[in-house]
Amino acid sequence: MEIEVQLTTFPIAEKISPPRLAAHGAWLEFRGAVRDEEKGVKIFALEYEAYAEMAVHEIRHLLEKLSTRHPCLAAKVIHRIGIVPAGEAAIYVGIASRHRAEAIALLGEFMNGLKQAVPIWKRRALPVGARLWSQTQPQQANLLQTAAAGASHTAALRSLDDALAEISSRCQPLPAIRAPLTESFGRVLRETVCAPSDLPDCDRSTRDGYAILQNDGSETFQIVDTLHAADWKPRQLKMGETVRVATGAAMPCENLRVVMQEHAERIGDKIRITKHEKDLNIRLRGEDVKAGATLVQTGARLDAGKLALLASSGCAQPLVSPRLRVVHFTTGDEIIPPDQTPRPGQVRDSNSILIRGLLQKFPHELTHSHLPENFERAKSAIGNSQSAISNADVVLVSGGASVGNKDFTRPLLEWLGFEIVFSQVNVRPGRPLIFGMNGNRIAFGLPGNPLSHFVCFHLFVAAALAKLVGGEPGKFSRGRLAGKLDDEPNPRETLWPARLAAAGLVPLKWSSSGDVTCLAEANTLIRVPPNCGAIEAGAEVEFLATDF
Ligand code: AMP
Ligand code: MG
Repeated sequence: MEIEVQLTTFPIAEKISPPRLAAHGAWLEFRGAVRDEEKGVKIFALEYEAYAEMAVHEIRHLLEKLSTRHPCLAAKVIHRIGIVPAGEAAIYVGIASRHRAEAIALLGEFMNGLKQAVPIWKRRALPVGARLWSQTQPQQANLLQTAAAGASHTAALRSLDDALAEISSRCQPLPAIRAPLTESFGRVLRETVCAPSDLPDCDRSTRDGYAILQNDGSETFQIVDTLHAADWKPRQLKMGETVRVATGAAMPCENLRVVMQEHAERIGDKIRITKHEKDLNIRLRGEDVKAGATLVQTGARLDAGKLALLASSGCAQPLVSPRLRVVHFTTGDEIIPPDQTPRPGQVRDSNSILIRGLLQKFPHELTHSHLPENFERAKSAIGNSQSAISNADVVLVSGGASVGNKDFTRPLLEWLGFEIVFSQVNVRPGRPLIFGMNGNRIAFGLPGNPLSHFVCFHLFVAAALAKLVGGEPGKFSRGRLAGKLDDEPNPRETLWPARLAAAGLVPLKWSSSGDVTCLAEANTLIRVPPNCGAIEAGAEVEFLATDF
């Protein structure tokens, strides 16, 4: 079968001539036009994006495969990319055959196969009233892609900084809630908490001993009372009087000192001081913190110490970030659970437990399932749990983020209602990273290789989750290399796994994004600029901490 495929940013011609074939009896033409509505919203255009080279290849491949079952003579496919106004054709298919039946059958199956197998997707729908910004972008003019040109579409490729800026500007903090202290560990505080009263709230003894007036130089002291930690018995002491006090007991009056019981000799109901010391042995009212002072600032992550402080000041229901509802899908028919023995070609699932561990920084509820490696079957598998997904704040898909035949993460996320913001980042490892938004809900498609997973999570997912919970994304710091970082120059920015030790940053060995051993050692990622190559020991570099 003669096949011609074009991707174009121009409107498809009104009239397209059939190929000059002596023998054909039927010339079947189909034009798929953009509707003026997408998911219930009136739109004036759709924007299509494609991995052009791959898309052309896949369209050809699909047509060749179908022509073995439906023998046709020629096929011509024109697909538009870029912005296609409603009413205009986004795709044209012309098929020549001897009889109409083959052409009709081939066309039907081709159109069904197109969505699944070909990396051309709807980047976004432009609602009526939206500005047609893309038409003013220079790359729009360059989008003309043909099979002959073979150029690939890179509009979706983002630098690390651009991707982070995009994530930061799009992700907004989820509404805060009040939670009991026992459920607040790891959450971000969403109010500044001040001390409602002095801490400690009164003068308290730091010793078991005897309280006397500070200026009392008597020889012996009469014990007039005994105070335990829970007692509150104010009384004015007189010269020559003492009160037996336990550690933590509230002082009966001001201007006292406590003589340690080890420095006093008991004689019946009297004492004699055997050793004099300067220390008052008293925690004074407000010496830890004064009423009104800031205890914990908004935006702080509540660790054990901060929770203890909130508890001391009576803030029992702090205003905090909600638990993130996370849905995680793994993909790949080769993936088996860790407790099974792989047959040739199979790979044990390490990403599920990796993601579960990495998410620990963010209090969350996690649902995980493994999807079959087929878009239609994956959609049916999700079918029943779609309401759980529509309630999720975050959807993560491991694997299938690239442009292979079976990589369906992008259409899957679109099917789940996410608008794809970008689908590639110019970093190594981890280039095929998909980021999508649906309202304030976010989705990431992560490349399946474990090291890419680790890198993409720390760089991008963690930054997005930090924004959702109202915290601060991790920042790059500067440090010195304790050993040589032995890289070849690479046009992409590289995130190199390393271990931050007392001597500095020790770059770890890795050779492929499929490596797992370095993950067990890494606690940082060193940022290596594009085309940098090896960096000598002692040099200053930027790094991101990955342990918390
Ligand atoms: P993909 O991103 O789906 O093309 O996968 C890239 C590589 O990552 C393949 O070698 C997969 O076998 C591997 N991979 C995908 N998912 C997982 C997983 N859950 N655990 C370990 N390796 C995986
Ligand atoms: Mg896969």
